Amino acid sequence: MKGTVLKSTGSNYTVRLENAEIAECVLRGKMRLGDLKVTNPVAVGDFVEVETDDVSGQRVICKVEERNNYIIRKSPKHRNARHVLAANLDQAALVCTVVKPRTAPGFIDRFILSAEAYHIPVILIFNKQDVLTKEKDQIKQESLIELYEGLGYPCYKISAKDPATIAEVQKALENKTTLLSGHSGSGKSTLANALLPELGIATREISNFSQKGTHTTSFAEMHELGKDSWLIDSPGIKELGILNVEPSELSHYFVEMRDELEACKFHNCKHISEPGCRIIEMLESGEIAETRYLSYLSMVDDAESTMSY
Ligand code: GDP
Ligand code: ZN
Repeated sequence: MKGTVLKSTGSNYTVRLENAEIAECVLRGKMRLGDLKVTNPVAVGDFVEVETDDVSGQRVICKVEERNNYIIRKSPKHRNARHVLAANLDQAALVCTVVKPRTAPGFIDRFILSAEAYHIPVILIFNKQDVLTKEKDQIKQESLIELYEGLGYPCYKISAKDPATIAEVQKALENKTTLLSGHSGSGKSTLANALLPELGIATREISNFSQKGTHTTSFAEMHELGKDSWLIDSPGIKELGILNVEPSELSHYFVEMRDELEACKFHNCKHISEPGCRIIEMLESGEIAETRYLSYLSMVDDAESTMSY
């Protein structure tokens, strides 16, 4: 029978079968692991085929469907190995806050870049509207929303503490599998609790979860929001950074740069100080936001320092 992996703890997998039954499964020993060098052959979000062992009666995952996409990070256990955090995502949602705490635009841009590299659509959820009392903070938020909506990333304004404000977000999550992320303190757990029907269990699980979030040993888990709607709680957002992106590849993941790159005079232009650079021209004319360009520069710096050893 087909199913979706909700949770994995080492060698055990919790699978939601297509008849809605929740089954604890193990992996068949000789299952093909594919080419991916990862520590976990089966990840949260994977679509799998489950059989029941004739003798032991145990549920066994015998096949993993090809993934539409997946997010990897460095394995918590093995330095050079990769760990698949989650698979088959329809979108990634980032909870941001302009104040208490401030989510830096650079953080938003890094999140977007990772998602773009994984081909996962992004939505931004601006939380804590109730504490946004100062006009200058409201202006800051509006300019962020204008920027990101202009780039094609839908933005929502909510106060996770007030469930009456989350209807639009709820709608954006319908019939989708969404990875929920956010800076610690942004209100990710509060929102998850407001979204999840089984509040009691969810509160406990998720608050526990976000505490673990700072450690590399935690794993993602998928929660059912409603029919065909799933929320994946992702620990260690800072680890979500894409792996092995060449500095020269970065600009391809900035939507406003992507289609203009051909117009640079040099094909290997890094868009820093080269003559005839279309990107710098767009920056100067205001077609590219300064914060976005600064994020780009800082990512190039990081990528170069990672590549150099
Ligand atoms: P997480 O670390 O992202 O999971 O954040 P939490 O959900 O634990 O929230 C961090 C703090 O912000 C908690 O004290 C929440 O009660 C508070 N908080 C969350 N959402 C809101 C909101 O909409 N308004 C206000 N004022 N506080 C909020
Ligand atoms: Zn250029």
